[in-house]
Amino acid sequence: MNISSIKISPEQIAQELYQLVNRLYPICRSITGDGVRNTLKIISEHVPLSVYEVPTGTQVFDWIVPKEWNIKDAYIKNSQGKKIVDFANSNLHVVNYSLPVHKKISLTELKAYLFTLPEYPDWIPYRTSYYQETWGFCLSHNQYLELNEEEYEVYIDSSLESGHLSYGEYYIPGDSTDEILISCHVCHPSLCNDNLSGVAIATFLAKYLSQTKSKYSYRFLWIPGTIGSITWLAINEAKVKNIKHGLVLTCLGDAGNFTYKKSRRGDTEIDKIAAYVLENSKQGYEIIDFFPYGYDERQYCSPGFNLAVGCLMRSPHGSFPEYHTSADDLNFVQPQYLAESFLQCSSILHILNNNEIYYNQNPKCEPQLGKRGLYNGHQDSKVNQMAILWILNLSDGHHTLLDIAERSGMSFDMIKNAADRLLANDLLTSLNR
Ligand code: ZN
Repeated sequence: MNISSIKISPEQIAQELYQLVNRLYPICRSITGDGVRNTLKIISEHVPLSVYEVPTGTQVFDWIVPKEWNIKDAYIKNSQGKKIVDFANSNLHVVNYSLPVHKKISLTELKAYLFTLPEYPDWIPYRTSYYQETWGFCLSHNQYLELNEEEYEVYIDSSLESGHLSYGEYYIPGDSTDEILISCHVCHPSLCNDNLSGVAIATFLAKYLSQTKSKYSYRFLWIPGTIGSITWLAINEAKVKNIKHGLVLTCLGDAGNFTYKKSRRGDTEIDKIAAYVLENSKQGYEIIDFFPYGYDERQYCSPGFNLAVGCLMRSPHGSFPEYHTSADDLNFVQPQYLAESFLQCSSILHILNNNEIYYNQNPKCEPQLGKRGLYNGHQDSKVNQMAILWILNLSDGHHTLLDIAERSGMSFDMIKNAADRLLANDLLTSLNR
């Protein structure tokens, strides 16, 4: 199935998405700092987003915007002066939000600041310490096993100071002020599936949707996880009432089956549409219920907002061993998987924008189709004719076009095209929802 208002070949979008992931991969991002700014700058080459800077110390509901963290360099040198762990080789080597440090310490003391993954001895883990001021290094377990009893020099050239939390926002006006929210996190360093896959797909959805006409307006957010959505919601509470549907995008570049995590409400239009699109994609998939963990859907679906926001993933966070390790890299994410995910997203948005409820203007018995040119005996048209009959029968103000597609077993676009013909013949009228 390829139902979308966006006309682009899968090969082209696969390359565009992967190139952006590739370009953003080396940047050391965090929840604040120049890594996020540089990321937003690269995204702005594709989409004219606005960058907002929220000062450290700003109260956002129960949270406070933290100090800004930046890093230039970091390493561990052995007693011969050889760098045995080097931030220049991987930004995962430093615990994200580490305080600056420069001192000589024994192996025993150093070990308290080292993190490894013994079960995957070649991989570097990803660790953060946003709200507890400390420092640390992450390294492969094999590197760790080579450490000897000697004195080490540890050096982290970072800063943790008053500054700003940066996020990117892009609004595409539609026919209605009702909005669809697309949100992704931009706070992870060199991790491709968890972070960059969603970032790239959101960027190109924004780019291509801005070239189409749609019923809904779109609001795209590239924000640091958790604190970013809390900050946005706190600052923009007056705009929240316009958000009618939303998707959090993450973990969309691996080979795994699709996973859709429903909104907290569980029975919203986007929940139904996502299920329909995945069912019709003829690939394996799973629909999971909302739970209050994961990504920014936690904030959008907190009880005070309770928005119709779901989360689209392939392999869910935590379910794949590469999650939060150096193995979530440019090999783990592949162009064709990114492209498939992009197409699923654009299908969901296409149906959302076209899922009208109509009233049959001639509800007492069937209208005579022949005199309107809507009835003919050609085999090709039989299916369209069935679509017309289904729509006329179910357009009682209670069924969306998706309901009719599901009940009839016909594709959404076939139902939508037949509805357009009936509208043109004044046999349907729109219910203003
Ligand atoms: Zn993560």
